[in-house]
Amino acid sequence: MGASGGIGQPMSLLLKLNPRISHLSLYDIVHTPGVAADLSHCSTKAKVTGHMGPDQLKACLEGCDIVVIPAGVPRKPGMTRDDLFNTNASIVRDLAEACSKFCPEAILCIISNPVNSTVPIASEVLQKAGVYNRNKIFGVSTLDIVRSNTFIAQAKGLDVNQVNCPVVGGHSGVTIVPLISQCTPPVSFPQDEREKLIVRIQNAGTEVVEAKAGAGSATLSMAYAGARFTNSMLEALNGEEGIVECAYVRSDETEAKYFATPLLLGKNGLEKNLGLGKLLDYEADLIKKAMPELKKNIEKGEEFVNKKA
Ligand code: NAD
Repeated sequence: MGASGGIGQPMSLLLKLNPRISHLSLYDIVHTPGVAADLSHCSTKAKVTGHMGPDQLKACLEGCDIVVIPAGVPRKPGMTRDDLFNTNASIVRDLAEACSKFCPEAILCIISNPVNSTVPIASEVLQKAGVYNRNKIFGVSTLDIVRSNTFIAQAKGLDVNQVNCPVVGGHSGVTIVPLISQCTPPVSFPQDEREKLIVRIQNAGTEVVEAKAGAGSATLSMAYAGARFTNSMLEALNGEEGIVECAYVRSDETEAKYFATPLLLGKNGLEKNLGLGKLLDYEADLIKKAMPELKKNIEKGEEFVNKKA
């Protein structure tokens, strides 16, 4: 959903290359016939269909196992993710409503920002519709993990394919908390370097927004991250064991109602929340600092749906 956008198009291409996908169903309010026609000529297995406008939501969604949502406006320089709330909240609400009607069993992967609020929005909508399953709604924070792995590998001269650094919390500014102490392979940094690295990871989205100078936010790296998360979910749905990804979900791990931690994925979505693990005092402190903003973002999302009801 949002298939014609800056993220939607390259992510659709990456998904078209995925042999686990039998049908790639593209939805947007513009341009999907063209995007679908173009992609459908790639000689890979997935059948591609394009659907445009709300009248075609039913045809798009019926039978879907996984719905990935990057619909909505991106940031421009000087904007926070929360500045997108007014536009994107209603887009995610309406798309979640359509999912509740046409594919109530599907796994929802939400990319649209502010993720800290859009996941609570979709969850409230599904609850109202009586089809909520907390194990099937994910806020895609994979780009934070991808960035951490890349920056750590560069700093330490490691093969990035071997690096895995969990990132917990939310998906904006200080709510992004990389747990460098839990990185595999183990890495260590002097405290000042570690702090700089964490700030870079937290501001990496802004780094791209500024470099693009008004032309949008991260699209190619997000498409890569979204395709990675979707592939992990497909592996888990297909019964492969030991598939772990961090994502932002309904959670009992901290005092925040939604929180990202490493998750074991399974045939029904979230199989087991693997929790925070052992934290350094410094990391526990970062999580504490993230709480006020995270809780505020969550309440804002919930209030948006309940106010409109
Ligand atoms: P974009 O403007 O290039 O594309 C958005 C697409 O959504 C457009 O094609 C637009 O037509 C479509 N759209 C708008 N309203 C719609 C609706 N009601 N139904 C279906 N489609 C609709 O933006 P982008 O760069 O692709 O970014 C999309 C979203 O992803 C933004 O909210 C951005 O902040 C977010 N994002 C998230 C992450 C993350 O890590 N989770 C990273 C980067 C960007």
